[in-house]
Amino acid sequence: MQITERCNLHCAHCFVSAGREGLDLALEDLRERVLPRLRAARVSRVTLTGGEPFAHPDVVDIVRVARGLRMGVTLCTNGTLVSEEAMDTLAALGRVSVNVSLDGFSARGHGKFRGAPASFERTVATVRALGERGLLKGLLATPNALADASEYEELCALARSCGAEYVLMNPLASMGRGAGTPARRRRGAAAGYRLADVGARGRRPRRRADPVPQRRAAAVGL
Ligand code: SF4
Repeated sequence: MQITERCNLHCAHCFVSAGREGLDLALEDLRERVLPRLRAARVSRVTLTGGEPFAHPDVVDIVRVARGLRMGVTLCTNGTLVSEEAMDTLAALGRVSVNVSLDGFSARGHGKFRGAPASFERTVATVRALGERGLLKGLLATPNALADASEYEELCALARSCGAEYVLMNPLASMGRGAGTPARRRRGAAAGYRLADVGARGRRPRRRADPVPQRRAAAVGL
């Protein structure tokens, strides 16, 4: 469930072209209509995404409502906006797990790919803090030309040390900012999902109406 279109980062491969502007699902709508209807349809677990779900001002309350309806909750986050207080609350609610995205294991490559050079340290610290609370479910990575193969060994080592169940390698989806121009798509396919222009920031985000499939490749090394 995409609870917000907004995100504090600007990843080169973002398949929903998230940015600073966008809409949030209202807590009231989720509490009064959406989540009760899902529960009535026998949905037992929901995954909250965005944009960045922790950019939504009511994300913890949304999780609380879902847990009140006896639904488990997974959040997919970039790990840069998750406060200690939020983690403590989520851990106390039970049946809450968190996936964190990390594209390789270097501040330079991850930061450039994510449009935020300082994000790597913050995200790794969040992964460790989630692991300490038993909240970490997995790490999600999009292989890219900025990361060396050896970085994925470090990624798996971090996941293992923090109690994660898996590392998922999600191939670059040809959607949103990951799509680029037709010529770029062809180059990307030939280069094994290489992004030709990871520094591009000036293009107007394109909104897509189609659903966002999560492409899961093989789990690595766990
Ligand atoms: S891929 Fe995730 S973290 Fe990156 S801009 Fe999109 S929503 Fe934000």
